[in-house]
Formats: sequence, C-alpha cells, structure tokens
Amino acid sequence: MENRRAIDYGTAMNHPQPLTMPIPGHIDPVPVPRDLKPRVDGRIDLLGLSRDDLRMALETAQLEPRQAKLRAKQLWHWIYNRGATDFAVMTDIAKDMRVWLEQRFAVSRPSVVEAQVSTDGTRKWLLRSDANDGQGSQDYEMVFIPDADRGTLCVSSQVGCTLNCRFCYTGTMRLVRNLTPGEIVGQVMLARDALGEWPSQPEGRMLTNIVMMGMGEPLYNFDNVRDALKLVMDGDGLALSKRRITLSTSGVVPMMARAGEEIGVNLAVSLHAVTKAVRDEIVPLNRKYGLEELLQACADYPGANNARRITFEYVMLKDKNDSDDDARELVRLIKKYKLPAKVNLIPFNPWPGSDYQCSDRDRIARFSDIVFKGGISAPVRTPRGRDIMAACGQLKSASEKKSRAELDRLAAEKQAALG
Ligand code: SF4
Repeated sequence: MENRRAIDYGTAMNHPQPLTMPIPGHIDPVPVPRDLKPRVDGRIDLLGLSRDDLRMALETAQLEPRQAKLRAKQLWHWIYNRGATDFAVMTDIAKDMRVWLEQRFAVSRPSVVEAQVSTDGTRKWLLRSDANDGQGSQDYEMVFIPDADRGTLCVSSQVGCTLNCRFCYTGTMRLVRNLTPGEIVGQVMLARDALGEWPSQPEGRMLTNIVMMGMGEPLYNFDNVRDALKLVMDGDGLALSKRRITLSTSGVVPMMARAGEEIGVNLAVSLHAVTKAVRDEIVPLNRKYGLEELLQACADYPGANNARRITFEYVMLKDKNDSDDDARELVRLIKKYKLPAKVNLIPFNPWPGSDYQCSDRDRIARFSDIVFKGGISAPVRTPRGRDIMAACGQLKSASEKKSRAELDRLAAEKQAALG
C-alpha cells in the first residue's frame, strides 16, 4: 500500500528532487505525514515534525531507508536534546552528509520582533514566523514567568483567537490563523535558547512548566497543539513531564475528553462565572456549551484526581462575578460534580476599552476565604509583568486600539461564526 503524500521541494532548490519517491519495503501501519511546505528558500523545516515525518522527509529526499532511520535518530537528538539549529555542529554525522542536509533542510526558530524583561523577572517575547499565508499580521507572543521553585512558559496556540472572552485583550483580535506544531514547539525551543538550557536535562532547569494559556483557544487548534505537546513530552528530547504541562480551555466541551485521552496533560478551565447570565456575557462560548455541560466534561476528564486537580481560572471583576453568593455557588458547583479542583483567583488587569474593573483587594480576599472555607484551595494570583503588559495579547495589541463599535462588531462576528 502506498499512500504517502509527496513533499514538495518547490523550485528554489539547487538540487531539484522528484516530487514523489517510492519507498521500498512493507511498512504496516503506514504513517501519513502532514503536508510539508518548503520555506521561501526551498528547504523543509524539520522543527515540529514527528519522528515518522522526520524520517520520511529524509526518505523522500532520496535517502536510503536504513540511512534515513539512523539520520532521523541523530537529528532528533541534536534538535530536541542539544538545541542545534545548524547542521555543521552535528559532529557525529559525516561532513558531506551535513552539507547534503543543509542544502535540503533547516531547523528554524520563530523570529523575535520584540523582547522585554519586567522588573519582577517576567520575560515577554513578540514573535513572528516565516509562514506567510497572506492573512496579515503573523505576530504572536510567549511569556516566561520565573518563580522561586519553578519557571513557567506561557505558550500561544493561535495568532489572534477564535473566541471573544470579554475580559481578554486577545479576544479583541480576529483569528488570523492556527499556529503550526513547529511554531508552538518553537516557542519552547526559543525560551530554552534564551535561558541557556541546552543540552536538555531534567535537573536544574529554569523552564520547568508549560501552560497553554497564551494567545488562542488550544482546543480550536487541537491537532497542532497535540502534536507539539507530544514533541515537548518526548523523553529523548525536551522531556517535559505531562504533569508539568497544563492546557487551558475556555470550555470547548466536545474536545475535552479527546484532550485528556490523546494529550493527557493537566486541565485548566477559564470559568470566571457561576451563573448562566454572567458567563454568557464574559465567556460567550457559554451560550454554546453551558456551565453544567462544561462541569460534567470536567468530571469526565481522563486522569483528573486529587493528585492532578483541575484548575478553574476565575478573573475577579468588580460587581460582576465577585459577590459572596458567587463564591458560595462556586463551592456548591465544584462539590455537586465531585471535582478534584483548585481555583486560581486572578485580579483583573484592565486594558484600554475593557468593560470591567478589578475587584477591590478586600473583596478578593473575602471571596478567596469563602472558597477556602468550603474546602477548596483558592489562592489569589499575584499579577506579574505589569510594567511590560505581560497579560495575554497586550504586547501584540499595544498599537492596535479599537473603538467600542469595532469591538462590539468583532464580538458579534465571532459569536455568529460559532453558530
Ligand atoms: S481568554 Fe483565551 S479563549 Fe478567551 S479570548 Fe482570550 S485567548 Fe481567546
């Protein structure tokens, strides 16, 4: 059976190759690689390919299958364990083979448009990729948050966002496109570069945790997020444990079970409200997948237990979702669904044009107290990187102020698109 797709090397190559290369021998099951588009220089970017796709890219470039298998293993180690971007440093590969690879392949990183460091050590990058599909700006963000006992990288999954959560700056942007697996894992690679954390080793890292909480709704880019996180978790490469990775969703209920089964990382849910009326307003996806449905999907999430609790994110909005009754209802709902849960209370960071204000400190403390007394951990998160606008979407949008009418029109468009 031959159902492999061809790799199009384009016309810019110095050594044009046939578009389809029959591969001898029976392979069962036959892996089907994603379509690989060459970069503008005609080379194929190896970053973000699965092990099978990497080997098949070499075979399609006319490397004999056993050679391809060996080289793929070596390349995997150099790319994901050593952080190499230059074939010349791959000293266990013969020199003429390194030249052959260099002519056909590349190992990229996202370009850094802007990098900032906060007074509290938070780092933020505005990134841009080579990919150009003619849909306007391609910039996206990542943020690194160092703490005493851990370092967390907040990774983006989309340029812009499908959704329009009303407290979120990224929600005021159109979805430009989904990030590719290479662009998602590329954020982790770039952070490791910046932190000087090659070769990859489990002990003594600064980058210990990843949260898929940057720009975008990860479950609306499911395949690419899954494939990227598999690279991040691969034990021969970046080797980050699934227990140190958290995927955050605003409540794309039909994809939650698949996320648990196919990715298996920790789950965080942008809850932010406990009544239909308020959640419909601030997380409009709630009109499609309601609270009860969402909480049931949390109860069914594979692998959640007291050692791996589900995190509920709750942004504190003055006079909107911060009453004593709201706190008590939050406890009641978590208990009703028997959820192994913790709650993160997030003081709202207002942005130009936002409809809300942050709850007062005393109110947040009181809310936290009620939830704690209900037997559920509810710490108040300290805002980080405010001096560099480190909240999601703020760096990218700093120069893109929109009028109220534009914001409302965009919100209506996004809602209509969800059906
Ligand atoms: S909170 Fe997340 S899902 Fe909601 S608009 Fe912002 S980026 Fe999108």
